[in-house]
Amino acid sequence: MRRALSLILAGLALAASPAAAAEPKPTLPPFSWAYQPVGVDERGLWMEADDLEREFRDSRLLVRDEALNSYIHGVLCRAVGEDRCKGVRLYIIRDPSFNASMAANGMMQINTGLLLRLHSEAELAAAIAHEFGHFELRHTLEAFKRRRRSTDALMWAGITGGRNGANLQLAIIGSFFRFKREEEIAADIRSFEYLAASTYRAAASPAIWERMMAEYEASAAARKLKFRNARRPSFVDSHPTDMQRMVYLKALAAEHGDGGEDGVDGYAKALAAWRPQFLADAIKLNDFGGSEYILAELARSGWTKELLAARGDLYRLRGNPRDLTVAAQAYRDAIAQGATDPAIHRDLGMVLLRSGARADAATALQRYLALRPDAADKTMVALLIDQAGATSGAAVMHAESGAPAVSPGSPANAPPEPASGGSAVAGARALAPANDGSTK
Ligand SMILES: [Zn+2]
Repeated sequence: MRRALSLILAGLALAASPAAAAEPKPTLPPFSWAYQPVGVDERGLWMEADDLEREFRDSRLLVRDEALNSYIHGVLCRAVGEDRCKGVRLYIIRDPSFNASMAANGMMQINTGLLLRLHSEAELAAAIAHEFGHFELRHTLEAFKRRRRSTDALMWAGITGGRNGANLQLAIIGSFFRFKREEEIAADIRSFEYLAASTYRAAASPAIWERMMAEYEASAAARKLKFRNARRPSFVDSHPTDMQRMVYLKALAAEHGDGGEDGVDGYAKALAAWRPQFLADAIKLNDFGGSEYILAELARSGWTKELLAARGDLYRLRGNPRDLTVAAQAYRDAIAQGATDPAIHRDLGMVLLRSGARADAATALQRYLALRPDAADKTMVALLIDQAGATSGAAVMHAESGAPAVSPGSPANAPPEPASGGSAVAGARALAPANDGSTK
């Protein structure tokens, strides 16, 4: 393992800048949560992070579901060990981009977009162990020192002096601290070492980067853009590309062996209540190729009613004539599989109406009103039923109005449905840094 590592690192050093290579490596202190920050830099950074965390705890972007939070914290503990994990405070952020980060004081942030794209507990363990690796190796402090020395000091002063809300602050912090290529590689390797010492399959991590590359390609293809950047590092990019990550993590995996637990079912179960909402958030980004890829990957073990409903939404929102046919079929398949959200009948009705299938559209819309007689949009839907030329709508509605109201299928403590706009997600998108992988 040592020899393979040094070979890999020697190869990667060729791509690193000479200035960066000349800097001494930070020394790693023995791990202890009793550790106190030393020096002006470190104390300042700790205090800053504590201030941000106090504000952030009230953020409307946080997913506060205790079960999900404790599940992820449990995975972290299994990955890095009980002694290391216990001081980490975890925050799940309702943001569909693929990102996570860790502050110097032990505050870890995980985007729901990251959770959506992972397929197993082992992958989750690898991703959050990477963030913990940055923390244990004190990369945040190093990044802070570099930034303070640089011409960005004014920008930093602007951030700390002109705070106007924790959401904005965290968004900026996330994009402000860029780790160096060597630090990203070190965190990847540290993550691999944590997992190799755990019960998880350490060799699970390359698949994350393999899928990220494929998603970018799918996204670009759908936009008809040429896809260039994943397969060779840009001169200005200080991070290992997804391709490099996949290659050296695969080399480590080949050296280490393929043992350990994936935890696919456990992960799917833990995410079950939230996945439809995280999918909806992703679909609203209007990245057709990317979302279609995410869906197809999740559906490898079968199209569930949740995945079918999301597929219907994806095609309905793009709305090309052929898309409407695909959307209608996806909604019908979801209903056939037992989807209970009344809105699916409304959405089916809408695509049928736009396809010109008026009678079927009226039936679906009537079904929606029957299942949700007090729907906020009932007036609009009734108007559409009229437009569809339904003559027996009232009779159908009467016949079914005695049916018990069906819950929208959301978890009890779920944030408001994002469908009505002005949601937490819209806010997250406006405030989130560009997904440049700077903190991953
Ligand atoms: Zn990183």
